[in-house]
Amino acid sequence: MDTPTAPKAGAMLHLRGNRLSEGEPVALPLTQSSMYHLPGDWTGGPSYGRADNATWEHLEHVLAYLEDAPTLAFPSGMAAISAALFATVKAGSRILIPSDGYYVTRRLGERFLQNLGVEVVQRPTAAFCEGGLAGFDVVFAETPSNPGLDLCDLPAISEEVHAAGGLLIVDNTTMTPLGQRPLELGADVVVASDTKAPGGHSDVLMGHLATRNADVLQAAREWRQFGGGIPGPQEAWLAHRGLETLEVRFDRMCSTADVLAERLAAHPLVRQIRFPGLASDPSHALAKQQMARFGFLISITLDSAEQADAFINGCPLIRAATSFGGVHTSAERRARWGDAVAPGFIRISVGTEPAEELWQAMQASLQAVVA
Ligand SMILES: *Cc1c(COP(=O)(O)O)cnc(C)c1O
Repeated sequence: MDTPTAPKAGAMLHLRGNRLSEGEPVALPLTQSSMYHLPGDWTGGPSYGRADNATWEHLEHVLAYLEDAPTLAFPSGMAAISAALFATVKAGSRILIPSDGYYVTRRLGERFLQNLGVEVVQRPTAAFCEGGLAGFDVVFAETPSNPGLDLCDLPAISEEVHAAGGLLIVDNTTMTPLGQRPLELGADVVVASDTKAPGGHSDVLMGHLATRNADVLQAAREWRQFGGGIPGPQEAWLAHRGLETLEVRFDRMCSTADVLAERLAAHPLVRQIRFPGLASDPSHALAKQQMARFGFLISITLDSAEQADAFINGCPLIRAATSFGGVHTSAERRARWGDAVAPGFIRISVGTEPAEELWQAMQASLQAVVA
């Protein structure tokens, strides 16, 4: 497989610098203002902090560059997902969402969309196309799915959805624009939680929506402005700062995951493992076709919840935490949230620790589980 480096990560770092005048700060200024100086008639510039903010607009500029599509920033991944759905459905719409994807997307559908007359159908990611995709106004896919790491075939789905006149939204959180490019694979809209790898330091929530569909873009922008769920300038600043090192962190995290997955797969305590980069993984062939990297998430199953907790809590280089994508390796037993997984199922988010140091710590903790 080619190991594509991020196509434009270098130019991304200089997007702002190449437009600076002498004496301007190289780092992105934080514009912390709700008001703008507006004497006389409004001529179209920044008017009010819910509609315009230079800091979040620069974050959008950088994200748009990575996505190669107009992009809107949102205060969380769920805010971006809500915008994508509320911008595209209406009473009477039928939508398809994954039954094994990020659980809050399902809760949003069940708790709110259904009350508004939207029919919400769920299917597992590994069998997403079974039963056909005709008859859905909006298909919302997540690949690899979180936390099971199943994949679905985005070009095939997009072809079927478009042939039936529907719209395809893809949650690309687990891969980031550097690891998978849903718009290039046929999606109409990509959404992501930048709380994860793009922020990268577990200190900020943020999300974005990118689309080349002008109607969806306009509706999502209005949803944000009228609904009022806008990114805070300080958070946008932090997310932008995270984005500047995404390429180097993502590269390290994916490379380390490649190494650890092989070793975990061979470990006698590991009953099951899912990682799209393993040749034995059911998703490997598809992963090679549609992903630039195999990601930094690995799922393993140990014999019991007790073993899983002992492994996680006994490893000094693993933080026991939910969420993923940070510089610190983290892990959790997903059954504690009610996911339909085995009691000993662990999602590991590989961080930026050096691979050998991390493996030594993991191996020692696995050893101690049965000692
Ligand atoms: C975390 C996550 C979200 C939600 O993002 P927030 O920033 O927490 O709102 C959505 N989709 C996936 C796949 C996620 O992992």
